[in-house]
Amino acid sequence: MSYGNVTHEGLGKSWNNMIEWRTGSLIPKICQQDCGEYPAKCGGGCRIESLNANGSMGGNDPYCLQTKPVARRRGIKQIFI
Ligand code: SF4
Repeated sequence: MSYGNVTHEGLGKSWNNMIEWRTGSLIPKICQQDCGEYPAKCGGGCRIESLNANGSMGGNDPYCLQTKPVARRRGIKQIFI
């Protein structure tokens, strides 16, 4: 998907075109209303995985089991030498 060309339209217009990513409108209702993981521990799954699996960015993340949290990244350990 494309939201604009930064070179031709500028960063501000391209950023504004991506408003759907910032309003929460793409987050499934089950995440927002029924899941205890949202929003602190999970942001609602991956919208692109939903697009690939469901044909819609507003659908469920296919890797979420709805009853268990999706895989989370472990904290990155910093190694000091
Ligand atoms: S764990 Fe699953 S149901 Fe809960 S917010 Fe994340 S993707 Fe949504």
